Order: sequence, then C-alpha cells, then structure tokens
Amino acid sequence: MTDLLGTSEYKAIAAGLSFPTQAFIDGGFRPALSGKTFTTTNPATGEALAEIAACDARDVDLAVAAARAAFEDGRWSKLHPGERKETLLRLAALMQEHARDLAVLESLDAGKTIFDCETVDVPETIHVIRWHAELIDKIYDQVSPASASHIAMVVREPVGVVGLVLPWNFPLLMLAWKIGPALAAGCSVVLKPAAETTLSTLRVAELAAEAGLPAGVLNIVTGSGSAVGEPLGRHPDVDMVSFTGSTATGRRFLNYSADSNLKEVVLELGGKNPCVVLDDAEDLEAVAAHVVNGAFWNMGQNCSAGSRLIVQRGIRDRLLDKVRAEAATWLVGDPLDPAIRVGSLVSQAHFDKVAGYLEAAQSENILFGGRIVAPGFIEPTVVETARDSKLAVEEIFGPILTVVVVDSVDEAIAVANDTEYGLAASIFSANGRRALRGARALRAGTVTVNSFGEGDVTTPFGGYKQSGFGGRDNSIHAHDQYTQLKTIWIDLTDHAAGD
Ligand code: NAP
Ligand code: MG
Repeated sequence: MTDLLGTSEYKAIAAGLSFPTQAFIDGGFRPALSGKTFTTTNPATGEALAEIAACDARDVDLAVAAARAAFEDGRWSKLHPGERKETLLRLAALMQEHARDLAVLESLDAGKTIFDCETVDVPETIHVIRWHAELIDKIYDQVSPASASHIAMVVREPVGVVGLVLPWNFPLLMLAWKIGPALAAGCSVVLKPAAETTLSTLRVAELAAEAGLPAGVLNIVTGSGSAVGEPLGRHPDVDMVSFTGSTATGRRFLNYSADSNLKEVVLELGGKNPCVVLDDAEDLEAVAAHVVNGAFWNMGQNCSAGSRLIVQRGIRDRLLDKVRAEAATWLVGDPLDPAIRVGSLVSQAHFDKVAGYLEAAQSENILFGGRIVAPGFIEPTVVETARDSKLAVEEIFGPILTVVVVDSVDEAIAVANDTEYGLAASIFSANGRRALRGARALRAGTVTVNSFGEGDVTTPFGGYKQSGFGGRDNSIHAHDQYTQLKTIWIDLTDHAAGD
C-alpha cells in the first residue's frame, strides 16, 4: 500500500514537475507539422498546465509510416517474446521509480484525486504492463487434429500497426490496458490520448524510450478527435483500431473502417450500469460502501460506474440510510488533498453537461447532495426517480446516482436490463441461488456478486449490447485483439514412396 504524503508535499511535487509536451514519433519528441499547439489545463484550478502539439492528418501519416517501418523490419515484432518481455518489465520498473510524479501529473491534468492516482491508477497501470509482459512468453500456439499425412499449425501473429484511441477518465490505466497487450504481442502502435489528458501518456512514452523500446514502435500523436482520431481511424495502413470512449464516437470508427481498409475495430464504450440490491442482502453497511464507491469513484466518470441503484422495496429505507451515511464520508475538494474522494470533473464542458443533469434532478426526489460545490466540483448526489426518466436512462458520467424501487426480483432484473448498454452490473443477495440466477440473467459483460467491481487484469472486460464491439480488454483474451490467426498446412505425403 502506498504511503500517502500531505497536501503541501503534493503541491511541492506539482510545482517541480517537468514533462514533455510534443508528439512522440519515431523515437523522438517533435512539434506538430503545422506548428500549432493547444492548451491543456488543470480542471481543478482552471490554470493552464502546458501547450501541447496540436497534430493533424499529416502527423498521423508520419507516425503510421514510422510504425509500419518498425513493424516490417522486425525490430520489435520479430524479437523473441522473452526479449519484448524484458523491455516491458524495464518500462514497468521505470514507472515504479517515477510513480509519485506520475500520480501527481495524472491528478493535475485530469482533476482526479491524488488518493485514487496513488492507490489505484498508477499501481494498477504498472501491474497491467507487468502482467502482459509476463504473459507473452508463456502463450503456446496450436496444432490441429489431423491425419497421419498432414500437420496443420494454428499460429498467432501480431496484427501489425494498431491505432489506439483513449478516453480522458483513466488516462494511464487505459493506456496500459491497450499498450500492454499490443506491445507484448509485437504490434507497432500509433496512440491518440484524449486531448484533455495527454501529459501522463507523453511521460510514459519518454520512459518507454529509456527502457529500450525501439524507435517507431510506440508513437503518440497528440490533438483532437477530429484532427487526429478520424485520420487514424480512416488510415489505409493501420491494420486495427482499439478504442475506448463514448458509444457515439465508437460508432464512427466502424464507419471509418468500412469506408477505408476494413481494419479490425474493437470498441469499449459507455454504460448505465445497474446495481441490484435484493431484500435479503446482508450487511447493508458493506452494501452501501460498494454502492457509493460504484457510483462516485472517479467522480462517476467511469464507464462501469454503478449509476443505477435498483432496490427492492422491503429494504429501501434501511439501505438508503446507510447510503446517505456512506456518501457523507466522500469529501469533495482539492484533488491534491489525500483525504478528498471527489475531485474535479475533467473539464468545463463536461462539468456543464453534468450540471445540466443536476438541474434536472432538482425536480425529482433528491435523497442526498444535489449541489454544485464550486466550478468543476459537484457533490455526490442520490436521486430517486422513475425507471424511464432521463436521469435513469442516459449515461451521465458524473457523481449522480439514481434510485429506482422495485417490488420483485423479476422486476429488478427487467429494470436492470432495460437499457441499450450492457457493460457491467452488480447484484447483492445473501441467497447464493438468487444471486447467481440474477448474475446469469443480467445482460452485461461483467457481473459482480455482493460487490462492485470490474474484475482485474486476469478477467476480460467489455460490453454487451451498445457498450462494446469486437473484443475484450484485459486478460489473455485481450491478446485476441492484437493478433490474428494463421493456418499453416503441411502435407506429409511422400509421393516417391506412394503413400
Ligand atoms: P469520446 O468523446 O468518445 O472520446 C474518446 C476518444 O475519441 C478521445 O480521444 C477523443 O478525442 C476521440 N474522438 C472524439 N471524437 C472523435 C472523432 N470524431 N473521431 C475520432 N476520434 C474521436 O469519449 P470521452 O468523452 O473521452 O469519454 C467518455 C466516454 O467514454 C463515456 O461515454 C464512457 O462511458 C466511455 N468509456 C468507456 C470505457 C470502457 O472501457 N468501455 C472506459 C472509459 C470511458 P478528444 O477528446 O481529444 O477530442
Ligand atoms: Mg487537462
């Protein structure tokens, strides 16, 4: 467990940080070809942090060419997996060495709490890189069932040049979820971080070069979705794109692929995840702790946030008392104060969107919170509402939990599944049979029983319905995204011998 510092110590680290601000292409930092930049801010203070290279399609072309050259000459793709492992383990070790600075940088750029950055984002990021590094020299290919006169091998090969497009809510962790398996598999990468949260990605690219990752294997092209994300999605020489973000943008990547070279596309998208509490749930304090964590962790800016509490009427009052008590312990304020659990939303634009939902909540039954604390900061809010209200249906991506009361288990499951999304779900019950029947019935890629969570690096993560497409992040299954299957069929007939 990380020993946390005090606020003033974190502020001192923040004041002394230095970090790259240019695109990272073919092993070096460089300005955008246009010379343009954009300003990235600390959303908690509104202060400008840096001017970042505002790249466009021409920079994407350069990065893809560098990635292609690296892939084809095999400087990374054809190394023994054990050598790739060693390089990635060195990267993980360097990240560990600079963990505190990375945590502060992440907090400054995204408004995330230093508590989360120190205890979850940075250690998990390092763990994920290590896990995929350790995995890659332990995966075996296959030999098919065959007659005596042939052998057929089924081998996995790296898919080639991959485009990775990231969201702003977990900049480091999503980076690790994608580059961990992509680099381990031997692919070359062109990565676009979200414009709001570019800094930690560039720092990792710098550390990767220091770890010995060859030039051209990991390229970071900074800039907006329209200027960089779209040209990457449409690029004829990109073999595959893995995207995490909103369902609306994910849909565009399918069009980009269809309109260009039919590149593979994997999408991790939004969610409106149900948390079902049946009337026999035990230890309501623990249940409330999971509910509150699920809803308000990372200010609710979490695709798997448990943002819909569906509770059976029999325990509504008792559970909501506990939820209120627990929510009251989630202090809102300066993200660099380690006692704070709720920091700033990522940007003014996103704050305005969430504030709009808070406004809509004012005409509903607000059970807790409901106020804007300061620009960028919204109190954890619990609001009881009808199952088909805008608040209960739309992905808010902020610290607003809706509560819907139901009368039966069947109704609970029906309400839970009544959504276009299907990323994650939770069910609480002391009765194992009811809980497991519920887990089977919930239409989501991850279902947690008597807890809120996403599994861990060992378990696949991705969505049913409009929460995902084409594959899974995390676990050994993540490697399916970044590899393709080849059959090598060998005829053993000895024609001279006539058999
Ligand atoms: P977003 O607007 O879809 O952005 C995601 C990424 O796509 C950003 O890098 C963005 O660039 C880029 N982008 C935007 N418009 C684009 C376009 N027209 N063409 C190509 N790229 C484009 O989503 P977000 O607001 O960053 O993140 C919040 C959403 O992500 C939520 O809906 C959440 O549920 C989802 N999410 C899902 C998961 C998961 O694993 N399933 C994880 C985290 C978040 P810029 O922002 O730089 O313009
Ligand atoms: Mg920022």
